[in-house]
Amino acid sequence: MDIQAEILIEVIVLLTAACAAAWALLAGPLRIAPRACRQYAVANGLLMLGLILNTLRTEEPSYLTWFGADLSLIAGIIMMRFGTVLLFRLPMNYKPELLLLAVVIFSMLMVPPSVASERYLGIVFSLAAAVLFVRLGISTYRGLLPGVGRNITLMLVMPLILAAVLFLVRLGLILTQDHAEARFISIHTAEAVPMLWFYLVLSVSINVVAMGNALTRLVQKIRVLADRDMLTGLWNRRSAELRLRELYQRWQKGRESFSLVLLDLDHFKKINDKLGHQAGDAALRQAALILGNSLRETDMLCRFGGEEFLVILPGAGIKQAHHVAEKLRENLAATALRWDDDEVALSASFGCAAIADGLSVSQLISSADHAMYQAKAGGRNCVVDSTAGPVQG
Ligand code: GH3
Ligand code: MG
Ligand code: MG
Repeated sequence: MDIQAEILIEVIVLLTAACAAAWALLAGPLRIAPRACRQYAVANGLLMLGLILNTLRTEEPSYLTWFGADLSLIAGIIMMRFGTVLLFRLPMNYKPELLLLAVVIFSMLMVPPSVASERYLGIVFSLAAAVLFVRLGISTYRGLLPGVGRNITLMLVMPLILAAVLFLVRLGLILTQDHAEARFISIHTAEAVPMLWFYLVLSVSINVVAMGNALTRLVQKIRVLADRDMLTGLWNRRSAELRLRELYQRWQKGRESFSLVLLDLDHFKKINDKLGHQAGDAALRQAALILGNSLRETDMLCRFGGEEFLVILPGAGIKQAHHVAEKLRENLAATALRWDDDEVALSASFGCAAIADGLSVSQLISSADHAMYQAKAGGRNCVVDSTAGPVQG
């Protein structure tokens, strides 16, 4: 028995056990991405079990310590990927993993579960692990990329790809090893120390990557809660104000113009009163969808208040704003809300305002608001510019 090997085994077992407990804590009491974290917890448990079974290998044949150990490790890597797929809500395709597991089991059953098959089992395991780490890497890449950008994504995916490469190196070493010299190395011996270090670094790496995934997901969720309106999914008032501050600075520095269209749904209270609050909510969602579909990528549509929406148009002057508002007005009025057997016409009154010398952001919003109230007074379902009278009904 080698003391360094013993310590390494204990450290890996403790580490995987602690990680399993930490993930279970996130999944259970803390309820952070519970389904994904549960998979990560199980994955660590399987990695720990695989290692423990590995330490129990003797010269005696045993299905549990030879096949069971490898299968447990393979299942651990598979669970890691399932956790990542669940975490990022990627399309779940578990067939390749099931197929690979079946192939591994089938390959194992061709040989006796003993020292005699050590080389063969090493080849099967290394190949399977390399494939699984590549697949884990791909899923991690797909999940992270939209949230954190290319650099951090590559940094977090790198350890997984490196793991795949190292398993291929291990495969190469087994294949090139002199067959006569290949012999059973107990995991407790000094010869096993490099491999144990590899397992230790691997266990730490995949948990660091998983933690990076979970944090990314959490930050994404918090961002949505902070920046978006929960009912319509549109930007909220806070986001609108931040954007306006930004545009205002650009206006002050480089005279880059921008305009606002403020709109308020007409007689909205009637929808609530007649059909109920849920119908009112559906009307808000429908309006949000129609307005959003009528705008360009660079325009910003926000839910500004109850049934009030604000459109921020970077680069636009009052004429363009009026044109956009007119298009929004037409599109909104063109589709009625269907609710059970009822049909309710939707319309809104629009106020437009463009940034000008001497106007602050809040004065700009006030002038759009003022124009919108003029549109209400002028009969609703119409557009008014802050500088002009009502235009058509
Ligand atoms: P006007 O044409 O003058 O704008 O009339 P209105 O009925 O639209 O205006 P009013 O301000 O009297 O009513 C707005 C209503 O919008 C009152 C409020 O209960 C409702 N409302 C605000 N937020 C929500 C929401 O999130 N869901 C639902 N269903 N209703 C909302
Ligand atoms: Mg209204
Ligand atoms: Mg209102």
